[in-house]
Amino acid sequence: MAQIRIENVRKEFGAFTAVQSSSFTIEDGEFFMLLGPSGCGKTTTLRMMAGLELPTSGEIFIDGEEVGQKPASQRDIAFVFQMFALYPHMNVGKNISYPLLSQGMPKAEVRKKVGEIAEILGITDILNKPVGGLSGGDRQRVALGRAIVRDPKAFFMDEPLGALDAEFREHMSEELRALHDRMNATTVYVTHDQLEAMQMGDKIVVMNHGVVEQFGVPQDIYDWPATKFVAQFIGSPPMNFLDFNGMIGTGQNEVRLNDVGIEVPEMREGTNGAITFGIRPEHVRLDDAAPYRGRVRATEYLGTTQIVTLETPNGEVKARLSSADRVNVGDQTGLRFDPRTITLFDAENGHALRSAANMEVLSHG
Ligand code: ATP
Repeated sequence: MAQIRIENVRKEFGAFTAVQSSSFTIEDGEFFMLLGPSGCGKTTTLRMMAGLELPTSGEIFIDGEEVGQKPASQRDIAFVFQMFALYPHMNVGKNISYPLLSQGMPKAEVRKKVGEIAEILGITDILNKPVGGLSGGDRQRVALGRAIVRDPKAFFMDEPLGALDAEFREHMSEELRALHDRMNATTVYVTHDQLEAMQMGDKIVVMNHGVVEQFGVPQDIYDWPATKFVAQFIGSPPMNFLDFNGMIGTGQNEVRLNDVGIEVPEMREGTNGAITFGIRPEHVRLDDAAPYRGRVRATEYLGTTQIVTLETPNGEVKARLSSADRVNVGDQTGLRFDPRTITLFDAENGHALRSAANMEVLSHG
């Protein structure tokens, strides 16, 4: 299997830059997610790694070898574009064995290999069946089998579950992840679905407008977003943002929101400009004695938890609370924020300001 490294890779289509200078490393055996909204450059990045698109500049390394200008055929990557694309006139076994037979592998060896793959995927009993009558899940397994059987250096998947309904999608994403854990094959997976990325990925790259906004393990990205974009794109509801004109300097650990002092992590950098105060809904508590005040505008019952929307002098705040908490629309209440979890952003460029809490994540991201 393979380590894949991209360094300062950039892609222009005429005057349009689809991918700005991007760098990150996918370690051998990782399940790696390329995440971002439609048009952010995920597919173009994947296609450059696969050799289906050549970078305008920058370098791509597979296991240390620079392959940036090499065609796809010389990179040994299995691209699972569309999981349902099977050969309809062949049975399951033939669909899976086709890539090996077309490489000229002896038949006995092919049979052994297909048997092993069928075992891994749990489809041994349907090897002789036509693909026409298979369920969606089995079709997907056969398509995967056909990709896996070649023993490629890495698997690339571009929104492979995109066309499925929610329940089946969840089932297949669990199966894909379990399959990966058995095979430990380097897998690069494109998605615009933040939940899918968080659930399945060992690491995530978050892209926006052709720029890599952040790169890291899911929990670091969730807890310590590098930019406002990441803080909003990941999490449901997303991170709350409160805007205020304050100043904060290195070493300080308090901001003033509407003249109320609020403790924040000790800052490692400051700004004289506008600041955005960021806090996730699960780190907001309601406490009548707290001096920072708000008014409950709505409550949304979600079973064990509820989302409470409050109006505050600095903007709207959503709090994720236990459903057992009694909260009524119209209540005036105080808000407390868990100080260890707060991120301050430079409101102008959207970058997180470095603090004792996020320093480590931001410096290796
Ligand atoms: P989606 O999920 O919608 O596919 P994406 O993040 O994968 O989005 P890309 O397909 O990489 O985005 O496209 C990034 C941008 O580059 C888009 O604005 C797209 O229109 C543009 N683009 C992609 N391929 C080409 C091309 N061959 N020629 C011109 N522009 C292109």
